[in-house]
This record gives sequence, C-alpha cells and structure tokens, in this order.
Amino acid sequence: LTPKEVVQAYWERVQRLDPSLGAFLTLNEAVWEEAARLDPALPLAGVVVAVKDNIATKGLRTTAGSRLLENFVPPYEATAVARLKARGALILGKTNLDEFGMGSSTEHSAFFPTKNPFDPGRVPGGSSGGSAAAVAADLAPVALGSDTGGSVRQPAAFSGVYGLKPTYGRVSRYGLIAYASSLDQIGPLARSVRDLALLMDAMAGPDPLDATSLDLPPRFQEALAEPLPPLRLGVVREGLGGNSPGVERALEGALKVFQGLGLEVAEVSWPSLPLALNAYYILAPAEASSNLARYDGTLYGYRAEGEELWPVVEATRARFGLEVKRRILVGTFVLQSGYYEAYYGRAQAFRRRLKAEAKALFQEVDLLLLPTTPHPAFPLGGRQDPLAMYREDLYTVGASLAGLPALSFPAGFEGNLPIGLQLLAPWGQDERLLRVALAFE
Ligand code: GLN
Repeated sequence: LTPKEVVQAYWERVQRLDPSLGAFLTLNEAVWEEAARLDPALPLAGVVVAVKDNIATKGLRTTAGSRLLENFVPPYEATAVARLKARGALILGKTNLDEFGMGSSTEHSAFFPTKNPFDPGRVPGGSSGGSAAAVAADLAPVALGSDTGGSVRQPAAFSGVYGLKPTYGRVSRYGLIAYASSLDQIGPLARSVRDLALLMDAMAGPDPLDATSLDLPPRFQEALAEPLPPLRLGVVREGLGGNSPGVERALEGALKVFQGLGLEVAEVSWPSLPLALNAYYILAPAEASSNLARYDGTLYGYRAEGEELWPVVEATRARFGLEVKRRILVGTFVLQSGYYEAYYGRAQAFRRRLKAEAKALFQEVDLLLLPTTPHPAFPLGGRQDPLAMYREDLYTVGASLAGLPALSFPAGFEGNLPIGLQLLAPWGQDERLLRVALAFE
C-alpha cells in the first residue's frame, strides 16, 4: 500500500462512520498532499494518527473543545506532533474532547458528544473520548490523547483499547493546551502494545521547549524484545469497594494470567489512594483557574464585540462552558487568601504523602494492578451531578498526582462493554508497563 492509499482507506471510513460516532472535530485536508510527498524510508512512513484537539497542530484548527478557540489555527506545532511527523506519520484529523480536558465523558465538548463504538447510547469516556472512539472504531490505527487525571486511561478502558499515561515529563508538553500543568501529560492510545511502543519511541525524550521534560531516552521497542524478568505485582484493593461484577471478574482473571506468567502476586495497601480524588479536585481546578486566565479576548482566541475593556472580557469569558466555569470558581476559591491553607496547601501536603506512600510501596513490589474504572461505560447523560462525574476518576487520579506511569489495557467484557485494568510502575519505568501488558496480550 502507498501512504496515499492508506489515507484514502481511513478517510473513507471516517466519512462513512464518523457522522454517527462524532470522534472528529476537524479533518486534515492537507494530509493528501503530505502523503504524496512522504519519504517512504522514514520509520513511521504512512502511519495515520488522530490527534486530540487540545494538542497544537501548525496550520490546522485546534479548538480544545471550546467556543473560546473555535477558530484558532496555531502558528506552531506541539513537539509530540512535530516528532511524529518528522518520522513520517500522517495526521488524519483532530479528535473531540471535553472542553479543555475537563470531564470524563466527552459530553462537555462545546460542539457535540462522542458516542461509544460498542454502544451508541453510552459515552466513550473522556476527556480523550474522540481519540479512544476513533481507535476503537478503526477510524485511525493510533491516536494521541492527554491525561491530567485519567483522560487517556479512562476512555481507553471504556472503548476497549490500550492507553498510556507516561511518567510526568517523559513526553514534552510543548503545544499541549494547558489544563493543570503539574499533571498534564500527552499519551498514546492504540489497539496493541507494540503500537504504543512505536509512538512512545518517536515522541518521548527531552525537549528544550519544555523545562519539565525528562532526560530519559525512550527504549520501548527494545524493552519489548527482552524476556520478562521475575516481577512482583501488588494488587491494590483497600478502600476501593463498589466495583461492578465484570470489573471484579476481570481483576480475578488477570491475576491468574499474571501468576501463570510467573509474576509473584501480593495484596498491598496504598492508604491515601481513596482520598486522592478530593485532593485532585482542589489542585486541578486551582491550576486550571490560573491557566485559563489568559482567555480574556485581548490576546488571541474568540473576542466579544465592544469598545470598553471590561465588558469585552466578561462577554468573552461568558463563552466558557458550564463545567469550565465551575472549575474556575472552585479554583479561585481554593486559592484565595484565607482559604489557601485550608484547601490548596493541604491538598499539596496530601499529594506529597501520596507520592511518598507510592515510593515505599515500590520497595515491596515492582508493579501495581487496579481497575481503571469501577464499572464499564455509563449511559450518555448518566452523570448529571458533577460530583458523580468526578467520582468516575477514583482509580486514575492516584498515578496523576504521584507523577507515575500508568497503562490501561483491555481485560474483558461486561455484556458487550469492554473493561480496562490499570498497571502502575515506579517513576520513569514506563517501559516495564508495556512489557507486562505485552505478555498479557
Ligand atoms: N476527568 C478528569 C477531570 O475532569 C480528568 C481529565 C483529564 O485527565 N484531562 O479533571
């Protein structure tokens, strides 16, 4: 197949299937031209990639799922995208998301919700729901998402695909539209472990444009070729009840498989994990309220009509969706003097404790296993109460706050709905996650 024929095949599938799925916000019309002049010797030549629409693509509209950036065409390219393109990847289009990444269902997109490919009455998860649905429905073989508190892993679980949140800093955040900067990470979604490795080897590594990027050279494909060493796997259960029967079955089944692969399995406790959600929903909105202050209509993005500065700023910011406004209110509240110590300060202290506990745990075991979500995909409109939506992130925010790498892998079904489980590794040991998941695959 020529790169052009590959593009043609995916383009036609998108035309046929996406009107009912809603995975894409924008298609890259330039991809034909890019395919035509592609160097076939490049390592990713002709690999078609869908990119979450909060990742800047030069010359291609990038909305972050928001009315504020509805017509924003970035004059710059995210490092992750630049590195994929330099190796021959073709960007097919930009995928739907919860506005600025704030949500767990993709229903908070300012444009339209994305449907779950396994059941059109259910959500694909979020906020990278468009990327997960696109990969699950084979509208693209691989996709990029971003994960602040679970947004790669949870939609991967709901949509039956693999999703990796790398160690904080392994993939450059340059060009990722900021939600909560101390948590945000770009991560790949794919239908196989090897495809994740292919993307990570291309994207990861230090970047002078992101001061928090790590000097850890990626060696994912190399690691997959090595035999699995004897590893100790810790199962986290404490304080984490209320899983659906399918999730419990998947967990038991996976433990048997891992034991069969020679892993030593033990129950462990991560005492602070059940409280991670509380800290996350203080810290993430706090950072978001600061990051979103820039959308005031004076620099870029949508600008309301008017002469006087303040009415223009107000009318511009009125365009934020309800959930974004809620996060800004919570964020400014927990940061204001008089409340700072009671909320933000304590949440930060908690974050340090959670991290220290994880570090101690990884003296006993080499990996942690827990569900990605307490149940499979929920119905569209099924989480009207914002707190009920937040509770969906119970299992994913721990790795985010601790900065640890975490991988969601498909581990069975409940009825016709996929179930995902999650592996966590020590800081910087992302490759280990893929090795174990490959053995499971
Ligand atoms: N659902 C979480 C939130 O709304 C996580 C989102 C994300 O990882 N971008 O904050």
